[in-house]
Amino acid sequence: MSQKIVHLTEDVINKIAAGEVIENPAAIAKELIENSLDAGAQTIKIFIEEGGMSSLKIEDDGWGMDQEDARLSLERHATSKIRTENDLFALTTMGFRGEALAAIAAVSHFEMRTSEGQGIGTRIAAEGGKITTIEPCARNRGTSVWVRDLFFNVPARKKFLKSAAANRSAVMRVVEIAALAHPEISFSLESDGKIILELESQEQKKRIAALLNPMPHEILGCGIWGLLASPEEANAQRRSQYLFINKRAVFSPLIAKAVKAGLGTRIDEARFPSFILFLELAPDLVDVNVHPQKKEVRFADEKKIFRKVEHAVASALQPPALVFSRSLSFAAAPFSFTEELPTQTQKPAPSPSFDFSFALRPLAILDGLFLLQAEELLLIDLKKAHARVLYESIKKGPTAAQALMWPIEVSVKDEQIVDELQSMGIECRWIGKKTIAIDALPSLLQPEDFFDFLDAWSIGKKLDMAVCRYASSTKKKFAPDEACLLWKKLLQCSDSLYDPLGRRIWKNVNIEQLKKILEDS
Ligand code: ADP
Ligand code: MG
Repeated sequence: MSQKIVHLTEDVINKIAAGEVIENPAAIAKELIENSLDAGAQTIKIFIEEGGMSSLKIEDDGWGMDQEDARLSLERHATSKIRTENDLFALTTMGFRGEALAAIAAVSHFEMRTSEGQGIGTRIAAEGGKITTIEPCARNRGTSVWVRDLFFNVPARKKFLKSAAANRSAVMRVVEIAALAHPEISFSLESDGKIILELESQEQKKRIAALLNPMPHEILGCGIWGLLASPEEANAQRRSQYLFINKRAVFSPLIAKAVKAGLGTRIDEARFPSFILFLELAPDLVDVNVHPQKKEVRFADEKKIFRKVEHAVASALQPPALVFSRSLSFAAAPFSFTEELPTQTQKPAPSPSFDFSFALRPLAILDGLFLLQAEELLLIDLKKAHARVLYESIKKGPTAAQALMWPIEVSVKDEQIVDELQSMGIECRWIGKKTIAIDALPSLLQPEDFFDFLDAWSIGKKLDMAVCRYASSTKKKFAPDEACLLWKKLLQCSDSLYDPLGRRIWKNVNIEQLKKILEDS
């Protein structure tokens, strides 16, 4: 006898959909952390009880939501992150499906407090996906989401939840992975009233050292940066392989294979090398839209990415072709990259010491264009690279200031300028009614060209415009070793491919293109 076909009720549809996104507390933690990251949070605190099954709470200091958005955020397929299909190919946020909050709320007792500032916000409560309360509440800028009694209304799923201990360690791993990709953000995790992870905002290598075993080899390439454990310390499991593409933790058998290929015969066939690898790819060269949990990726050009990674790993283990060992000439000059200068006497240490040595061959600098031989031949526009690195160092805040031997005196008409300069890490003070003295500048801002920067800033008070104008007008000439360090700094930028105005900074030059120059002449 055939069964009659019926339409499922909305309630059942929602529970099925929820099950696809939300399997366990770790999946919830992952989604909520991603939302906090997308909201520009600087501090993310997570609190769990019984491994997150009875309670999971997350608090952030991101930009929050107004009441209308808070209500919409609980609806399925409601998102602020994409608008059209085309946006899927240029994702810059972690989330995009607009499913997570709806799914989490559908299977829990849910509460959210969110505010855009001014101490007042919105509190929303929902039971099994139905909103029961929307009311104003006191809240500083940011969002907290509190998920209690997971799967209280789906007993069949609840039975499949693992033990509290297993869930706790899964949540912990999720937090650690997010923390590895976002060292600038403070994270904490409290489990049953005990703090089990606490990480202040810190530099990338320090964050890695705080969470992972020592990895002495540095992997460097265009759009590739990472650390690699010695091959002798390879594991029988993949657990210590971490891959991030554009800061998103992903799984890619292809890249894992490429790393292994790069190690060649140095590693036992049956073992897995430990590594942490960050790839920066233009969003249209990688598709993260393959798996609901967004873990698996597809590459536009698999062979190319395989070769690049393989090559970068192979060079990480080779003695560098060119190591800068002398104390670079600009150590005494206003340029201050000194904290990163490598020396030849520093052997790769078993624990991550923060020196680096790299195989870069500066070939030529012609009119601001830099020809560099890394594992490929690269053509780099130094002015644009300068703009990008300066832009990011200013955005990071007043950390890298270098004191000036002679303060620069500036007469000012606009009083606000002092606050603006200070927020850019430019130390200054009033010395007369309309005069200020500049005491310290971020590295990469040349004292002799400071007025150019000030002019550029005054025009529109837009940092991206100001740094690009400044970098293109500065008389600064880069020596080859400075240019190499600038390149190295560029690779650490959140976007190393384009300058703050979106113009391409570098390209690789292949042999075919070079041959063509001759053929065309
Ligand atoms: P997605 O992240 O895919 O857009 P979600 O269901 O996770 O979908 O979130 C829906 C929307 O709610 C987001 O697009 C965002 O606008 C808003 N939102 C969620 N969490 C936060 C948060 N912590 N801070 C600010 N806005 C948030
Ligand atoms: Mg989301």
